[in-house]
Amino acid sequence: MHSLKAVLDLLLAGTDRSLRIAADPVHFPRSYSKPADQELAALIAAFLAYGRVDLFRPVLREVFALLDRRGGPEDAIRSFQPELHGDAYRHLVYRWNRGVDFVLLFTVLREHLRDQPSLSPLFAGPTVRQGLSRAVDRLRATSVKHAKECGLSAASFRELPRGFQYFLPSPDDGSACKRWNLFLRWMVRPTDGIDLGLWKEFSPAQLVIPLDTHIGRIGRFLGLTTRNTDSWDTAEDITASLRKLDPSDPLRYDFAIAHLGISGACNGKFQAAVCPKCPLERWCVVRNRQVG
Ligand code: SF4
Repeated sequence: MHSLKAVLDLLLAGTDRSLRIAADPVHFPRSYSKPADQELAALIAAFLAYGRVDLFRPVLREVFALLDRRGGPEDAIRSFQPELHGDAYRHLVYRWNRGVDFVLLFTVLREHLRDQPSLSPLFAGPTVRQGLSRAVDRLRATSVKHAKECGLSAASFRELPRGFQYFLPSPDDGSACKRWNLFLRWMVRPTDGIDLGLWKEFSPAQLVIPLDTHIGRIGRFLGLTTRNTDSWDTAEDITASLRKLDPSDPLRYDFAIAHLGISGACNGKFQAAVCPKCPLERWCVVRNRQVG
């Protein structure tokens, strides 16, 4: 019987990267050449990477078209002034995000980029969890401090618009923080045709998997976790299982596993036309329940 590592290697080798990148939000940061533009485009693309790709992609396209009119993400955000530039974004709507969320986000990022070439120092910490918690605390504090500049009145983070709060989940709240961990994967994993490898001061070994419904479901099928909630602890549990296969790069298979679900190939049920050809079928409990 093939080992789990062997079947995941088969899945990875059989994933059409260029086809899947076109359907992945990493496509947006990858369309820029300047690292500072890539970093900010990655953060914005990751923040909107919830729900259906075909619904958030047009909104991202519009956000980046607006930023590009002012020189690209870095130039536009470093010089962002809500009263001068904010109106261009106020019509944006995606699920519970509204234009004002982008206006406040760009203002907050502008503040954290003052005298800094990158956002990476914000995330420094002994573990991803600690670095991320600290970064979120600081971003939340800055957002309250600059709310008034964006026409908002809030004495605490929880008084800010719901859509903006959704940009800044914290592991301290138990959230799996899928979009943060996706952003960190793009920043930290070496360039492999998918990830960007911009933050070389961080180690890929420390990353935590961006846990979404696809990773949670297929992770359970493969026995990577027995936990049923999509929480931070479950993300750490799946990562710990993957770390046993590759201690230096536990997120090596994340893109391929996620896209098995995103592409619609794996829908969580046994499919006679799909499962027997799936590289994971020897390890998948769904497939084996049918065989048994
Ligand atoms: S064997 Fe079927 S259910 Fe299992 S991971 Fe593959 S496609 Fe999904």
